[in-house]
Formats: sequence, C-alpha cells, structure tokens
Amino acid sequence: MLAFLHGLAPFAVPLAALTGLLTGSFLNVVIYRVPVMMERGWTVFAKEHLGLELTAAEQQPFNLIKPDSRCPKCYTPVKPWQNIPVVSYLLLGGKCGSCKAPISKRYPLVELLTGILFAAVTCQYGWSMVTLGGLILTALLIALAFIDADTQYLPDQLTLPLIWLGLLFNLDGTFVPLASAVLGAVCGYMSLWMLCYIYKLLTGKIGMGGGDLKLLAALGAWLGAGVLPVLVFIAALIGIVAALVMRVAKGRPFAFGPSLAVAGWLVFIANDKISAAVRWWLGVSGF
Ligand SMILES: [Zn+2]
Repeated sequence: MLAFLHGLAPFAVPLAALTGLLTGSFLNVVIYRVPVMMERGWTVFAKEHLGLELTAAEQQPFNLIKPDSRCPKCYTPVKPWQNIPVVSYLLLGGKCGSCKAPISKRYPLVELLTGILFAAVTCQYGWSMVTLGGLILTALLIALAFIDADTQYLPDQLTLPLIWLGLLFNLDGTFVPLASAVLGAVCGYMSLWMLCYIYKLLTGKIGMGGGDLKLLAALGAWLGAGVLPVLVFIAALIGIVAALVMRVAKGRPFAFGPSLAVAGWLVFIANDKISAAVRWWLGVSGF
C-alpha cells in the first residue's frame, strides 16, 4: 500500500486538483445544507421545548445525504451525470436539465476554487503529511468562509472539529510543535474574546460572533501561536478592504469569518513571505 502511494507521488498535483474538484462538489452541499440543518435543529428544539407539534416537513430527515439533491425550481432530482464537477455545469449550459432555470455560477466556482487551492497546497508541500492536513484545512476553510458570507454563522459543527484536527495533526509536530498549537488555540480564542469584551464595555454592542473566536482558535491550533499577530493583521486588512468594497457602512451585517479564513490560508501557504512583507510594511508605515 505504502509503495503504491509513493508511486503516485509524481502525479501528486493533478491528483490533488482532481480531488479538489470532487471535494468542491461536496463542499457545495455542505455550504448549502449545514446552515439549514442548524436552523432546523433550533426550530425542532424550540418546538419540542414548547410542546408544539412539528410539521410534516420538519419530521423529514435533512442532512448532508438526505434528501437527494433536486432543482430548487422544478424539484427534478439531479442525475448522477449532472453531478460531475464543473463539466456538468458546462454541459447543461448553466441551466437545469428539465426546467432550464439558471444554476448559480457559485457551484462551478467553488469546485474550481477547491481544485486550484488543493493543487497549490500540493505544489508547496509535496507528497507529505503537511499536504494531507493542509487539504483538510483548506476544505473546511472554504466551507466556513462561504457559510459565514451567506448566513453570518460559523457553525460549531465545522469550527470545533477544525480545532481538534489541528491539535491532532500537531501531536507529533506536523505543522508546529504541540506546545505552540495548544497555545495557538487558547490565545486565538482569548485574544478575540478580550477584544469583544472591551468593545462591548465601550459600546454596549456585540462586535463579533462567537464563531470568529473558535475559527481563530482553530487557526492557532493548526499554525501555532507565533503567527497569530500577523494572521489577525492580514485578516483585518482584508476585512477593511472587503467592507469598503461592499459598502458595509450602509448597515449590511458584515462577516469577519471569510477574512480570517483567507488570512489563515495565506499564512499556511506562504508564512515566511507574508511575515517578511508585513514586517516591511509596518516598518515603512512607521508603526
Ligand atoms: Zn428545474
């Protein structure tokens, strides 16, 4: 088995890209369904607590597998050949095979993005445990970024496993020494918690969701405590630019999770270059 895996090493990058396309297809399901599953869970919990009856729809199972994927307009089930990443979208001309309702460009874009980022991770770290961990980290960050952008939620179902996986991968120091990973998880959570606490004392408002705290804890668990200042700095920069571009000032709620996810991924893929660039920038700016 090991010899077979080593034999595949020369094909690592195309294999990773292909795996990324397929994973992206699954991430589309996760991005759409996990928030619905959360809201259903809350509704069922509240109704049971209040002794109210559940509707027939609420009693149906709804998870990552059931019910089967359907066109949201005409409810025609998606056939297996219509599930091929990117290819099916192109073959169908971006429309439902039955009712011709347009299919969101988001689906092939998430698939392509995952394919490209998987290839980039494998280019950078080769056929290694760091790559294996990096692909898992990448997939979960993509899912979290899109879910947060869509719904302003960073579900515990994804952030908590991301923390535990980071600590597990670093048990033998795959990314950083275990001590740095543990400190990273604690400091990641506590630094944002203190920031939120001070913000709330000063303004009486809640500035950031609890999910952001857990996401930064997860990034600390994977990448270590040492990179957290640079990571938060980059996330803030991305957040400010994104907020300006999207004119959040007009009162639209703004999700910080995508900025944290992008900053975390950038630090993972190019920590040395980014740290040097940030030091240079801060030096030039006279901070
Ligand atoms: Zn349709």
